[in-house]
Amino acid sequence: MRHSQNCSLEAGVTLSLLYFWTTLIFCTNIQRMDTRNSYALAPVATIIDRLRKHDITPTRQRLEIGRLLFARAQHVSANQLLARLNAMQSSISKATVYNTLGLFAQKGLLREIVIDPTRRFYDTTITAHHHLYHADTGELEDIPLDKFDIAMPFELPPGIQLDGIDVIIRVTRLMTS
Ligand SMILES: [Zn+2]
Repeated sequence: MRHSQNCSLEAGVTLSLLYFWTTLIFCTNIQRMDTRNSYALAPVATIIDRLRKHDITPTRQRLEIGRLLFARAQHVSANQLLARLNAMQSSISKATVYNTLGLFAQKGLLREIVIDPTRRFYDTTITAHHHLYHADTGELEDIPLDKFDIAMPFELPPGIQLDGIDVIIRVTRLMTS
């Protein structure tokens, strides 16, 4: 907002049309950057508590990743998370992002969803639910159990228990003529 006001003031006093347009473009770019870089962050105390409850030491980098991840319910890939961190001028490396996501998933803080060998998502909602995968957009959508609950379709061999049923329904939008 401050950039916008400063830029409007400068544009108002200058007689140069070229300068006006340059300033206008500069302002627009700043506003776009601000929008892109302003991701919601969960409170630090909440994330420290969450990590400790899952037996994870809250390092600075884990906190930074956790605040971004757990600000809202979402499905995110390692590359998407890395891109957001980069947009926020974070110095966290790609290896740390991958390792931290793996650790969070291993400790039960995240649920890992493997679409195929090249597409792996991390889900902040760890309670049981299914997914709709939009192949054309690469987005995952939650299907709550009350909409699609599946009973075990056959009897399991003796000595084996059911840990869960995770369904991914893959869809593509129809092309309209
Ligand atoms: Zn989900």
